[in-house]
Amino acid sequence: MPGSDTIFALSSARGRAGVSIVRVSGPKAADALQALTGRRPPPPRTATLRTLRDMSGDIIDRALVLWFPAPSSFTGEDTVEFHIHGSRAVIDALARTLVCCDGLRPADPGEFTRRAFDNGKLDLTQAEGLADLIAAETAAQRRLALRQMEGGLRERVDAWRKALIRAGAHLEACIDFPEEEIPEGLVEGVVAEVATLRADLQRHLDASRSGEITRDGLAVVILGAPNVGKSSLLNALARRDVAIVSPIPGTTRDPIEVHLDLEGYAVTLIDTAGLRDTVDEIEAEGMRRAHARAAAADLRLAVSDCLGDGMDSRVTQAIPGADAIVLNKVDLLGAQAPAPRAGDVPVFHVSARTGQGIEALVSWLTREVVARAGSAEAAPLTRARHRHALDAVTRHLARFLDNHAHRASGIDILAEDIRMAARDLGRLTGRIDVEDYLDVIFRDFCIGK
Ligand code: GDP
Repeated sequence: MPGSDTIFALSSARGRAGVSIVRVSGPKAADALQALTGRRPPPPRTATLRTLRDMSGDIIDRALVLWFPAPSSFTGEDTVEFHIHGSRAVIDALARTLVCCDGLRPADPGEFTRRAFDNGKLDLTQAEGLADLIAAETAAQRRLALRQMEGGLRERVDAWRKALIRAGAHLEACIDFPEEEIPEGLVEGVVAEVATLRADLQRHLDASRSGEITRDGLAVVILGAPNVGKSSLLNALARRDVAIVSPIPGTTRDPIEVHLDLEGYAVTLIDTAGLRDTVDEIEAEGMRRAHARAAAADLRLAVSDCLGDGMDSRVTQAIPGADAIVLNKVDLLGAQAPAPRAGDVPVFHVSARTGQGIEALVSWLTREVVARAGSAEAAPLTRARHRHALDAVTRHLARFLDNHAHRASGIDILAEDIRMAARDLGRLTGRIDVEDYLDVIFRDFCIGK
């Protein structure tokens, strides 16, 4: 049963010279602490130096011990943290001793956070924020994740949900009470409230892409004929040491993506030179995904070499929908390098070989990512999951307003639209106790006393 076991895990490992933290959480945490230190827990939330011993009395380490009694801990359960010297030998000895303690077992991945969720310490959006914070690579990603972890999205969703539940309770009241007892204008009041709510949700949906761009990075695909220098361009961009972000797990061996950090925002460059036909099944699946990613990119760079006249118009014809044209190998033109020309789409003359023009291209990319992700401060939707849930909610509300406008259905159907909307909103935070909530509100509802 979740929550009945006491779990432990190594929460950080910094190598031999550093400090590691082993966290124990559950009803037996105090017993484990007693077994290791021979003493009762120290005062709550106060770092205390203690000697840790194994079952035979051998000293494992001198460690800082922190005691967080329930419910004031991350998981909401009794929790103890051992800040130990981070060597393999110390960690192993501590783990071997903990596993011998009655009722203790190693934690499954994500189990501490799962317990925090089960105990109402955080909701799904906050758990996602925490995961994002751990994976954050750029300053903007860190800021966004922190805001989400601290409940930025949860507070907004809670406010929306309260409004929905209030609307639902008013409608339920209309169903259960004789018509003459329903205050005048009640349904109209609900309709007005739902219309306002829907407009608010739509505003968030419209801005949602910026939150996702901040979290996932702006995807920029590099398109063009073979040999124009797409891979060289990618390398030239990635060679700016300051711009390289450490590879994201799972893409490290993927040769077609490069991650850049431009003024704190993440940009992923996708080189379609890596996209080719293959008979290998696994590689083919990788290619399929890469194609899909390229198709869904935020920006398309059309690359050509600038040998010959009118290349930019030829490139735009060949690659419609390009957001910028990059004419490479400008070094081959010697002194007659063409001046940049004004047009619908910016044109960059660059040389991946000499680096000429690359800075201008990077500046433009930076401006684009800042413009597209910049409004994320106001839009906390960071995942497609959030957008889909809100999409579903707005559809229910639209149906509600439509049904009401056309007098197409009775109040019970209208109330059902609201209930469905509340349910889908509950999916966002992982709290789907709509019925309970309705019951409470309904009980306190004053109509009819
Ligand atoms: P891709 O097939 O589009 O990815 O093209 P590559 O990046 O593999 O480059 C094709 C050829 O063009 C290689 O021989 C590169 O060395 C050369 N090349 C790429 N960029 C430049 C450049 O800016 N100037 C010159 N002179 N040659 C380049």
